[in-house]
Amino acid sequence: MPGIYLHIPFCKHKCTYCDFTSFPDKLAFAEAYMACLYKEMQLRAEELRDVVFDTVYIGGGTPSVIDPAYIYGAMKQIVKHFKLSKDPEVTIEMNPGTVNEKKIATYKRAGVNRFSVGLQTAIDAQLEEIGRIHNVRDYLYCTTLLKGENFSADVMLGLRGQTKEDLRKTIEVAAGSGATHISMYALTPEDGTPIYTQYLNGELPDGDEVRELYDYGYALLKEKGYRRYEVSNFCKPGYESRHNLNYWRRGEYIGFGVSASSFFYGRRFTNTFGLDEYMKCVLSGFLPVVENEAVEGEDAKFEFVMLALRTSEGLSAAKYRQAFGSDWREDFREAYRRTERYFETEGDRTFIKDEYLYVQNKILIEYAN
Ligand code: SF4
Repeated sequence: MPGIYLHIPFCKHKCTYCDFTSFPDKLAFAEAYMACLYKEMQLRAEELRDVVFDTVYIGGGTPSVIDPAYIYGAMKQIVKHFKLSKDPEVTIEMNPGTVNEKKIATYKRAGVNRFSVGLQTAIDAQLEEIGRIHNVRDYLYCTTLLKGENFSADVMLGLRGQTKEDLRKTIEVAAGSGATHISMYALTPEDGTPIYTQYLNGELPDGDEVRELYDYGYALLKEKGYRRYEVSNFCKPGYESRHNLNYWRRGEYIGFGVSASSFFYGRRFTNTFGLDEYMKCVLSGFLPVVENEAVEGEDAKFEFVMLALRTSEGLSAAKYRQAFGSDWREDFREAYRRTERYFETEGDRTFIKDEYLYVQNKILIEYAN
């Protein structure tokens, strides 16, 4: 079932590795921005009138940095303009340095039932070095407030000087805090971010070292009862993120806010990345879309294969046939022949063998040609 994404682009401080659309110096625009976000939903209400949405994901930026009344307001707008399923999953991303009891109570009143907390590492010196505004104590305070709730913790790999011992401590803090879900992902040094210089200088762990950290973290998570259901996502049984599963199943979603992307009616479209442009556009009654392309034919087939093979549930031949009317092994005969040894099958599902999932990009590149 389709999902809704809201982008809240404000942060207190820019992290050294961040290339998301987030503004550390524009918090004063939050009220005006949220009014535009509400208006953008209104502009889309008519065309999406009959769609039932199963998930809402409030991401950023740092959604928890703004007044929680705006999140409450956003959820009211969603309920007013769109149909939600009976038991929607509603997630909000939170930075542990911006949370208090009142905020969490307001989110819950608004309908939020899942929280995503950016721990990143349980080593304070590393948090400081990458420009995070929180420390481990803030994370523990935040998760004490979330006791008994369904929440996820983010864990980063590939930080400067990061050891297996650092990672063990981080996973123990995340698991010990009661997280039902852990996202463990590798830092990607993007050109233009401050951390890119460290990367160019060879100061960050290389690919093999990150792979070793990943394998170590994977084993530890498994030992603690977390099941891997996607290359970077692990959860206790039954706590998969429905919102993300929908992405990987090539399900439809609509994004609101600056830089938000959407996939609907077989088209992928993206909003402008400029805050001023976004607000001007919406206030003038226009959708702020800057890119809009149909994904069809070979591109759609490739997307289906690429997304499905990222997950542990793998690629269902029946679902592929239902979507495209053909056999995926036939459509990608050469690529399949070259990569067959990396796969396992179960019924009609094909998935990448456990030991190769981390290097899936090297396998999937064969399907792009
Ligand atoms: S908190 Fe997240 S969005 Fe904000 S600067 Fe840091 S990494 Fe980027």
